[in-house]
Amino acid sequence: MQQQALNKQIKLVFDFDDNVKTLEVDERRLKQILVNLLTNAVKFTPSGGQVGLEVTRVVDKSAVRFTVWDTGMGISEEDLQKLFRPFVQLDSSLTREHEGTGLGLVLVYRLAALHGGGVSVESQVGQGSRFTVSIPWRSIGAYRGNTSLPQAASPAPINVSDTAADFPRPLILLAEDNQANLVLVQGILEAYGYEVIVARNGVEAIERAREERPALILMDIQMPGMGGLEAIRRIRADGEEAVAGVPIIALTALAMAGDKEHCLKAGANTYLSKPVSIRRLLELLQEFLKISNDQLEESKK
Ligand code: MN
Repeated sequence: MQQQALNKQIKLVFDFDDNVKTLEVDERRLKQILVNLLTNAVKFTPSGGQVGLEVTRVVDKSAVRFTVWDTGMGISEEDLQKLFRPFVQLDSSLTREHEGTGLGLVLVYRLAALHGGGVSVESQVGQGSRFTVSIPWRSIGAYRGNTSLPQAASPAPINVSDTAADFPRPLILLAEDNQANLVLVQGILEAYGYEVIVARNGVEAIERAREERPALILMDIQMPGMGGLEAIRRIRADGEEAVAGVPIIALTALAMAGDKEHCLKAGANTYLSKPVSIRRLLELLQEFLKISNDQLEESKK
């Protein structure tokens, strides 16, 4: 965060409790949590302010707390209520991600929950905010044998617990050229129990569809080089039934008249216009992949 803070003349403060030793977590997810919170804190703190990270061990040693605080604009009581309600702010934020904290905070919440932890926030308008993520303290090895956190890199089905039936994480191909959208949607889908592979243009999308045989494709229409419509046509014309028959949801930048028809004519099963409603997207995925809520709950654990 140094560079972003420096650009705004914000002082970064780090406070680390020596009693915190080794904590077993999913390293990449914990980093995502902290980067999300720190990015928001820097974004909403005026020049000359301060942003800090405190790492403390709860007295009874049952948890480790990561608190990101700032001297920023603060959040009103009313907005605090909405903050973690997953879909309140999401629907309009996908293509305006710099404006809202909603998507990032929902991700933070999901990732903390995946660790068996939680998130709380205290804030005063004009004074600043404190976001605290608590992660249960478990010594090395404690996770093994009872819980597997979803591994982003693992293509294999994961066990969610000793008793739950194995539920393979469905593989989603996300074809999207916008880096910010790509990272956010990938993060959300992974937090909701999906495995995600990405492509940045139509040619890559076709290649990956053939190589990896995803269960479903999310296809942006506007991409450099070969766009989504042509990629959909070529996938539908593929000689392999497993490739040609994959469900495809088209993502269109603007709901222009005739857009839907173009997507469907090219062979998409349906389309979503941006800004994409994450709620609707998750519903569609479940519908097309015939995944029950129970299965998805299991894969989220
Ligand atoms: Mn695009």
